[in-house]
Amino acid sequence: MSKSLLCPCEDVTTAEVAHAIGRGYRDLESLKRFTGFGTGMCQGKQCLHAVARFVESQTGCTPDQLQPFTPRPPLFPTELSQWAALGFDVARAPAAGVLAPDETFPALRAPQPVQSKARVVIIGGGIMGLSLAWNLAQRGERDVVVLERGYLCAGASGRNGGGIRAQWGTPTLITLARRSLELMSRFARDMGINVWFRRGGYLFLAKSAEVAKKLERSAALHNRHGVPTQLLTPDGARDVVPHLTMQGVQAAAWNPDDAVIFPWAFLWGYARQAAALGVAVEPFTRVQGFEQRDGRVTKVVTDRGDIACETVVLAAGAWSPEVAKLAGVRLPNEPHRHEICSTEPLKPFLGPLVSVLDSGVYFSQSMRGELVGGMGHPQEPAGMNLSSTASFLQRYAQAVTEQLPGLGTLKVLRQWAGPYDVTPDNSPILGPTPGLPNLLQLSGFVGHGFMMAPAVTERMAQWMVSGESDELFERFALQRFAEGRLEREDMVIG
Ligand SMILES: Cc1cc2nc3c(=O)[nH]c(=O)nc-3n(C[C@H](O)[C@H](O)[C@H](O)COP(=O)(O)OP(=O)(O)OC[C@H]3O[C@@H](n4cnc5c(N)ncnc54)[C@H](O)[C@@H]3O)c2cc1C
Repeated sequence: MSKSLLCPCEDVTTAEVAHAIGRGYRDLESLKRFTGFGTGMCQGKQCLHAVARFVESQTGCTPDQLQPFTPRPPLFPTELSQWAALGFDVARAPAAGVLAPDETFPALRAPQPVQSKARVVIIGGGIMGLSLAWNLAQRGERDVVVLERGYLCAGASGRNGGGIRAQWGTPTLITLARRSLELMSRFARDMGINVWFRRGGYLFLAKSAEVAKKLERSAALHNRHGVPTQLLTPDGARDVVPHLTMQGVQAAAWNPDDAVIFPWAFLWGYARQAAALGVAVEPFTRVQGFEQRDGRVTKVVTDRGDIACETVVLAAGAWSPEVAKLAGVRLPNEPHRHEICSTEPLKPFLGPLVSVLDSGVYFSQSMRGELVGGMGHPQEPAGMNLSSTASFLQRYAQAVTEQLPGLGTLKVLRQWAGPYDVTPDNSPILGPTPGLPNLLQLSGFVGHGFMMAPAVTERMAQWMVSGESDELFERFALQRFAEGRLEREDMVIG
């Protein structure tokens, strides 16, 4: 059968792009994610223009309505060993990098106003907002609107590493993560979309006595809560991943039940199934303010009109503090850039997600064969900064090739960045806002919100619909910071 190719690297045809447009993906960022066009060796240099022209011909939109997707370094595929040999002083705080995404999302919003009222308005179309909407609809609460200022994968949920693990440092997070693992393992069957769930385990490496002790302590906690984490010697860890060097490694922790997934498909699955139950999912719709009366939010003000409501859920991830400020509420979360990258594909060689807990470097192999990984910087200043730096690639390439020296010639294809939504104790903020009880908080998930979302939003929807108490929303309430009652979590990567 003949086919007409738009993206030769990833073999994406006109029929596939037309199918995606038919499913409602009309902006280039969403089409890239849904079809894979522009994600191969040339990173869109050959196909972006052709796809844009095709979308114009299919949808009748004008060129100025089609924002090209954010170009990202490197300019051409470049070997890890070359990045590792750069001469930046990597101990210094990273500078603002280049090519941050345009956050204005011009001219893509639907021309008609949003609906004028809803019982529940959810702000943020990331994994938290969408999974809460679906969970509410499942329990009969279908008068729900999700407002997303960009496309559905614009926030951290579209920019993360896809790791899900039960290896946490507190009983609460272990319980939530175990439930999420269970829900995510059957997501494809329940929601009818492939999420490339792969149970390859998580292997943590410790290079200092202090971190080795932390692994030992947390493994004992895991075992008490039904997680089969094993402490391994460096040789034992090499048995799990034979290609790893154990340079400087003192101990390892291994849970074969942990997994990696393909994040974008979870958002599409939740959005589609929530919409099928009657939820209105409104991308390209920005919240600009609130109306309040007698200590309650009465309306949410958007750039497509106002929505009168009974309950508002603030699920805007690392943007939550700036949205909360519009209601006169101060949240203690701070955004911190985290950089991440992906390489050309290799045949399958890496089972687990591997992380050196001391440095925060992590990497896993995607189902397409790419090595996907990242690394935070301890000096990264707070602030919304989604740009990319060469110094990150230097640090990352050095850390990865120290553990996998055979990968020096592996080429990095693209890098990007996303915001960690960091709270003072690395734990989320959930539940009512003091002084504005119908503004519910659902943010502060640092670098682990994706894996927490299915379990947390299941509990939150149940709590909202039933009115029954749930200790989760007392434990992680916003007022804990004013009360000096912190819920510290120290198994955070990055
Ligand atoms: C590099 C990186 C790697 C990570 N790796 C992992 C991992 O391996 N495993 C894991 O579990 N987690 C990981 N995380 C964390 C995880 O991605 C987040 O915790 C999670 O996605 C947060 O989801 P969210 O829905 O709260 O926020 P987001 O996904 O950020 O969604 C919030 C949404 O709100 C929208 N918004 C903002 N302002 C407005 C407004 N005014 N009006 C309307 N909408 C608005 C934004 O556009 C955004 O889409 C990682 C994060 C990063 C950055």
